Amino acid sequence: MTIDAEDLRAQCLKMRYSRRLVEPEVFPSEQEWEYITGRAMTGIGSSLYRKYLVSWSLPEDERTDIHCSALQWFPQYIATVPRDYALGVVYGDISSCPQATLAVIYKARLFDADMLRDVLHSTEPLSPPLPQGYYPLTFVVECLDAYQPEYTNDTLESMRELYRDITDPEPLGRITDSRAIFGGGTKYECPQGHINDAGQEYCIQPGCGLNIYGLRQRHEALIAAFAERIDALAALLAH
Ligand SMILES: [Zn+2]
Repeated sequence: MTIDAEDLRAQCLKMRYSRRLVEPEVFPSEQEWEYITGRAMTGIGSSLYRKYLVSWSLPEDERTDIHCSALQWFPQYIATVPRDYALGVVYGDISSCPQATLAVIYKARLFDADMLRDVLHSTEPLSPPLPQGYYPLTFVVECLDAYQPEYTNDTLESMRELYRDITDPEPLGRITDSRAIFGGGTKYECPQGHINDAGQEYCIQPGCGLNIYGLRQRHEALIAAFAERIDALAALLAH
C-alpha cells in the first residue's frame, strides 16, 4: 500500500479539525472551508453542519465573518461529499433549525424519498423537539419541491410510497363532540389545541392555520406539484 503525501497531509488536518471543531467557539476559516470542500473531506460533516445550524440561528446583526463563511460554504461542502454521507449528516438533525435544514436540502439537492419516509415513520422522539406547531409531516411536505441529482425506477417507487404516506397521514388534531365542554356541537381541535367550528379545515387562530394533520393551506400546492413530478418522472423513465 502506498500513501500519497497530499493524502497524509489531509488526514492530519482532518484529525486536527475533528478535535478542534467540537469546541463551540471554533469555526473553520475561509481557507479551511475551501480546503475541506476541495478535498470533499468526510468524517467531520456533523461538526460542520453544527456550525452551519448555529450560524443560521444567530440574528443577522450578530453574525460575523466566520458565521457567514459557514452559511456560504456548508451547502457547497455537503453537495461535494458522497451523497450517502451527506444524507446521514443532514437528516441526522432536522429539528435544531428546520428552516436551515430545508435550505441546505434545496441547495445541495438532498431530496431523498426514503430518508423522508424515515422521518415520517420514526418512533423515536426528536432531540431537540421540533419547534412549536411544526411536525415531521410539515417538514417532509416542505421538502417536496427539492431535487436530487439523479432518479431511477427505484427512486420513482420510493416517491410513490412517500406520496401515499403524506396523503394518508395520522391525524394530530381531532374532531370533538363534547357539548358540555365547548358548548355547541361538533368542533375541530387543531394539533395545537385551538378550538374551531367543525367546518373549519384550517385553524383560524392567528399564526396557527393548521389542519388536522399539521399542514397549512400553502402545503396543498406542494403536494399537488409533487404528484405532477411523479407523473413526469414516470413518463421520462418509460421511454
Ligand atoms: Zn390552531
